[in-house]
Amino acid sequence: MRRRQFLKDLALAAAAPALGRSTPARAARLPAHTRVVVIGGGFAGSACALSLRAAARDLDVALIDPDESYWTCPTSNEVVVGWRELGSLKVTRQGLRRAGVGVLAARAQGIDADRRRVRLDDGRDLAFDRLVVAPGIRFLWNRIEGYDVFAAQRMPHAWQAGRQTALLAAQLRAMEDGGVVAIAVPSGLMRCPPAPYERATLIAHYLARHKPRSKVLIFDANNHFPRQDAFTEVWRNDYPGRVEWIPVTQNGAVAKVDADTLTLYTGGGAQRVAVANVIAPQAPAAFAPAAGLATGHGWCPVDPVTFESTHLAGVHVIGDACIADAMPKSGSAALSQAAQCAQAVLAALSGRAPPAAEYASVCYALTARRSAVALPGRFLVQAGRIVAAPAAANAQAAAAANATSAANAQAAGRWYREARIAAFGEAMRA
Ligand SMILES: Cc1cc2nc3c(=O)[nH]c(=O)nc-3n(C[C@H](O)[C@H](O)[C@H](O)COP(=O)(O)OP(=O)(O)OC[C@H]3O[C@@H](n4cnc5c(N)ncnc54)[C@H](O)[C@@H]3O)c2cc1C
Repeated sequence: MRRRQFLKDLALAAAAPALGRSTPARAARLPAHTRVVVIGGGFAGSACALSLRAAARDLDVALIDPDESYWTCPTSNEVVVGWRELGSLKVTRQGLRRAGVGVLAARAQGIDADRRRVRLDDGRDLAFDRLVVAPGIRFLWNRIEGYDVFAAQRMPHAWQAGRQTALLAAQLRAMEDGGVVAIAVPSGLMRCPPAPYERATLIAHYLARHKPRSKVLIFDANNHFPRQDAFTEVWRNDYPGRVEWIPVTQNGAVAKVDADTLTLYTGGGAQRVAVANVIAPQAPAAFAPAAGLATGHGWCPVDPVTFESTHLAGVHVIGDACIADAMPKSGSAALSQAAQCAQAVLAALSGRAPPAAEYASVCYALTARRSAVALPGRFLVQAGRIVAAPAAANAQAAAAANATSAANAQAAGRWYREARIAAFGEAMRA
């Protein structure tokens, strides 16, 4: 079965760029030797590079990322509870190379917008006609007192997949029955807002089977969260007494940690736990402020139709790093932005008007092995902002999408397989 699926996925990979696109890209005629440089090979940057290559075979597309491999955050909560191997999250850059994208293993350090050049950490200096920047997020260390890069080795965030995911999984496995697991959720804009609650739910599922005297405490710096209705019902019915949510109004915000003793401090006092998953407050990756793309308050303002930076002409910012108003910071949203941005870049390079903008995203959160909730969204541009489109006219379809169901769990698996292919041109290993 898995092998058959893998072969099917490989076939899809051949058509990869089409999957990331909301509307088919037009083949572009461009002057010879036109080059687009993409910084960041996550969901947003990789998908944009593939879309550009698919739409303009003569275009020189270079993608810069220091890492030869990438671990997807989507499905990483399943690794935390042992349902998947860490290796199943890994993608390489081979799909991009096969599509003709020039992949450079380096870290971008700065932009000279006037000379249209990117400076790399290995001393190279790369010319571009248009630049797409998709560097993801960074953590604001010490916003929670004591939570820095070293504390994260004892209290993993697991909010960038890879080693951190493996660390949290290992701590959970090693914990004695009766131990308390804490998840600290920050306030402010963050990557994948429903994911902490999916994680809490899957950990509750794991504890019910393997550590029946243990529980999960969610220390939350917010007062509500996405699909709170559905998650609360699942916790009450399926994992009774296993998950306790402590909102900011009940002193849920973690102000300080002590990584040596695994203690979290809130306005309500100190809580010592067995496993602490501390998700730090976030901002765009360091490259964004260094290159002058971010505002004082952090994220990168862009035109909502072209994703061109409002700070630097000819430079586009997509994915988690940009301000996309009503769109969540998700891989799914990143794919939709990447497709639109690719078309806007090609339009700009060939002197055409940018395409009309309409975006979509969908996030799935598992509540058990074969059950999930969905968070679908459609978005339009109105009065210079990306806003949520009016609710679907078909109320029955919307209700089905919103239910906690096996159909949503299947859709989640399908979405993940297709998103990997759309973003990286690489199917999952069987
Ligand atoms: C636990 C969890 C579960 C999630 N589940 C889902 C889900 O089910 N569905 C969904 O849609 N989304 C999900 N997400 C969100 C999703 O992972 C992110 O929104 C998505 O990864 C954002 O893509 P990005 O390309 O903007 O950033 P990233 O994926 O972080 O990629 C950024 C890339 O930029 C590179 N980079 C950084 N700085 C530089 C530089 N200076 N030079 C060159 N390269 C650089 C990095 O190495 C990295 O490869 C989840 C997130 C988490 C934490």
